Parts: sequence; structure tokens; C-alpha cells
Amino acid sequence: MRFDSHCCIVGGGPAGMVLALLLGRAGIQTTIFEEHEDFERDFRGDTVHPSTMELMDALGLADRLLELPHAKIHRLMLDTPGGPIEMADLERLPTKFPYVTMMPQARFLDFLAGEIRKMPSVRLVMGAAVQGLLWDDPWGLSGIADRAPDAPQQGAGAGAAQAGAGAQAGGAARPDGPTPHPTLGRPAPAHRPDQPGHGPLPDDAIVRGVHYRTRDGQHDLRAPLTIGADGRFSRLRRLAGFELESSAPPMDVLWFRLPRHPHEPDDARGKIGKGHLMVILNRGDEWQIAYVIAKGGYKEIHDAGLPAFRQSITELAPEFTDRVDTLTDWHQTALLSVEAGRIRRWFRPGLLLIGDAAHVMSPVGGVGINYAVQDAIVAANVLTGPFREGRLRLRDLAAVQRQREIPTRIIQGFQRLVQNQIVTRALASDGMMMQPPPVMRLPILRDLVPRMLALGVWPVHLKS
Ligand SMILES: Cc1cc2nc3c(=O)[nH]c(=O)nc-3n(C[C@H](O)[C@H](O)[C@H](O)COP(=O)(O)OP(=O)(O)OC[C@H]3O[C@@H](n4cnc5c(N)ncnc54)[C@H](O)[C@@H]3O)c2cc1C
Repeated sequence: MRFDSHCCIVGGGPAGMVLALLLGRAGIQTTIFEEHEDFERDFRGDTVHPSTMELMDALGLADRLLELPHAKIHRLMLDTPGGPIEMADLERLPTKFPYVTMMPQARFLDFLAGEIRKMPSVRLVMGAAVQGLLWDDPWGLSGIADRAPDAPQQGAGAGAAQAGAGAQAGGAARPDGPTPHPTLGRPAPAHRPDQPGHGPLPDDAIVRGVHYRTRDGQHDLRAPLTIGADGRFSRLRRLAGFELESSAPPMDVLWFRLPRHPHEPDDARGKIGKGHLMVILNRGDEWQIAYVIAKGGYKEIHDAGLPAFRQSITELAPEFTDRVDTLTDWHQTALLSVEAGRIRRWFRPGLLLIGDAAHVMSPVGGVGINYAVQDAIVAANVLTGPFREGRLRLRDLAAVQRQREIPTRIIQGFQRLVQNQIVTRALASDGMMMQPPPVMRLPILRDLVPRMLALGVWPVHLKS
């Protein structure tokens, strides 16, 4: 079979972009598709952790990355009735970068894109929405999987409504399709159950690449390995029939920003009380604030109105009384519906999932970006040799999962513990300020936890 690329990556988030960079650097022919035209999009976190900075350093890119505007967080303090308590001091970490680099994610991804575009072996295709998986099977059959295995044949369901590989590009609207595409702002073709080869991925199929849509039409790209790095709502996960085993974190997060005055401290701060929990992060001339609310509680907060919301902020953080009025519209807030979970198997023949596509992370500890990047490093470490030698096997894909699954389980277990021990209690409290559980102040935990969050459960280094 003729392939267009050795590796096809779907999704230009931290996982996909770092993997493209690493494979490109190793000379592996790689194509990466990102459905958006640029990286400016909803807020999705700005925390570049020390382990990611160490990777940038190993690639000789750290100094240039740090020339971009950023802020540094060295410590996390918790405000309590008895005064601030230090919860984490990153300066004690054994790393050249003992701080969290706060940089808008769009700038970080732009930076990676700039590096990727210099590499002759990588093609970064922006504005390319992957809609289906190309497959063939041992019987000589082939097709395009554009529907989740258990999705209904016609009409309803995300898979059916938004799929439609190969069908009637630019066709006229019909009552049973096409649905407007959220990114390109024009109709997506309807699912075509009448078209041979379209439908769900057969059990014994091997994934052979992707079917994607750009402004100029529908295209196929054939590759021996497709990497799904398409995030928490992964389409590839659905098409492959992988089920996300999710836990139900008790919270959602409302993100917003308030001005930061130059003389204010750099440290990140946490506040707990009055049924809420707030994490305040230094973003240079702004504070990035995570306002934790009970799961599904947004409607009630929204219905109570902005003045009530502003008041609840100042009750917990009186220091913002002088600037909370800058919040004049709900559009200045971003709601993160918190989910967490992972799939049992991250791969099948011809396909591997990494990052949020394989494991959706709770925001506790702000590790989602970090863990996605570490998946990419491990994938590059494991797969570069087999790519070069032209003998990629299923066990190579299994090796990536094996190396990443245990750290993911451990960190998700830790996040569950924090959610149950601290977040649930905080959301249920009606007192003004809560103390952290005494266990959190044990010196061993005070060092161990920041280390696990900042550097990973165990360090992941680039092999070559
Ligand atoms: C509101 C919010 C705040 C967060 N805050 C933090 C934080 O402070 N720190 C932290 O570490 N993590 C944070 N996270 C989590 C973090 O964003 C993710 O864990 C991380 O981005 C995962 O990286 P990824 O590359 O796996 O997926 P993503 O970053 O989600 O990237 C997936 C990419 O795939 C693209 N894509 C999707 N479908 C297709 C398709 N069919 N075809 C082509 N492209 C496609 C998407 O456009 C996207 O660019 C936050 C998340 C949210 C939603």
C-alpha cells in the first residue's frame, strides 16, 4: 500500500504539536491536522510546567520560549483565617525551571507551530477537520469509518450528524442534514448511509489514515499510524469505539480575569470558604481566576446575576473590591464543565490515542497540558525507532500506553482525593474561610505533591 505520510496526527493541541515537533526533528514524515484556522480559541489553561520547560530546554528552545511575554509562579499560598499558609514551594524542586511558566496557550502553540513549519518532514494543516478514519481489513475490504460503532444509522447523534466523509461537499441543505459546522461556519455534509464503505469501523479493521475536510473540499491522507490527539471530546475516540470510563468530579470551574497591579505578589493563591473555592494565578498584568462551583451550579449563579457574582468574589477575596467591576459581561467568563476519565485501551491496529483523547484530566493541579506533553514525549521515544525501521507493531502502541497509564492513574487518583477531601467539603461549607486538612501540611506531602504535579509522577525525558 502507498502511504502519504508515516504518521498522521489529528489535533494541534499540546499533545499533537509536541509530538509533531519531536517526530519532525527525527525526520519522520508527519502530517498534523488542526480543525481551527489558528490557535486563538477559548481559554484552556496557560500553565507550562517545569517538565515541559525541560523538554523545551532539551530541544534548545527554552531561552527563545522565555523571551515571549510570560509570568512565573514560584509558590502556592492558601489564605486562611490565621493568615497565609505555604502549600507548595516550587523553588525546592530539582529542576532548572523551578516555577510554572504562565503563558497564553495560544502563544505556546504558535511558538511550536513556528518551529514545526521549519521542518521539511512535517506538514501542519490548519483549518482541516478530520471526519472519518480510513480502514481496510484482512478480507481486502476498505472504507471510511465516519460513525461511532453504536451510533444510529440515520439522523440523530453527533457521529451521524457531523460525519459524512466524502459526501456532497457544499451540497444544498436538506431537512435531515447538513448541520452547520462549528468551525468553518458552513454546512457539514450529511451522513450517507447509502454510500458503500461508510459507517462504523469494523472490529477487525486496520486504521489506514484519515478523511478530512478543508475549505477547498474533502480529502484523504493515508498513513500507517494515525494518532488521535484531538482532545477531551475526541472524535477519533468515538469512531474507534473506545468508551471513556469517566468519574464524576463534583465541580465545575468558572474562569475569569481581573487586572493585576504591578506591586502585588507573584505567588498563586488559594481561597476556600462560603461554599466556594478560588485559585488565583499570576498572568502578568492580569489575575487568572478559577472560581470553583458545584457541578451544574452555573445556571443558578448566572440567574442570580452578575452583581451577586461580583459580591461573592469580594466576600472571598476582598482585595478585589477595587476592580471586580471590570466584570461587566458573562462573556468575560469561561465555564469549564469538569470531567475526568480515561479509556481502557489507548490503541488498536493503526491508531493510538494520547493526551486528553485518552485521558480527560480534572483541572486539579493544572496538569492537563503537562501530561499531554509527556504522552507525546513517550510516544516519540517509543515510535521513532520503529518508524525509521519501517516495522511498526501493535506492541509498540501498547508500550506507549503501558508507560503512560500508571502515571495517569496515579495523578487521577490524587485528583479524586483532593476533590473528595477538599473540594466537596469546601463547596458544602458556609463558613468564611476553611483550613486545609492537617495532612496537607505534612512536610513530606508539601514536597511530594508539587513534585508530582510539576515534574510528573516520574520524570519523562526525551531519548534522543
Ligand atoms: C477551560 C479550561 C481550562 C483549563 N486549564 C488548564 C490549566 O490551567 N492547566 C492545564 O494543564 N490544563 C488545563 N486545561 C486542560 C488542558 O487544556 C488539556 O488537558 C490539554 O490541552 C490537553 O491537550 P491535548 O493536546 O490532549 O488536547 P487539546 O488541547 O484539547 O487539543 C486538541 C486539539 O484537537 C483539535 N481537534 C479536535 N477535533 C479535531 C478534528 N476532528 N480534526 C482536527 N482537529 C481536531 C482541537 O481543535 C484542539 O486544538 C484546561 C481545560 C479547559 C477546557
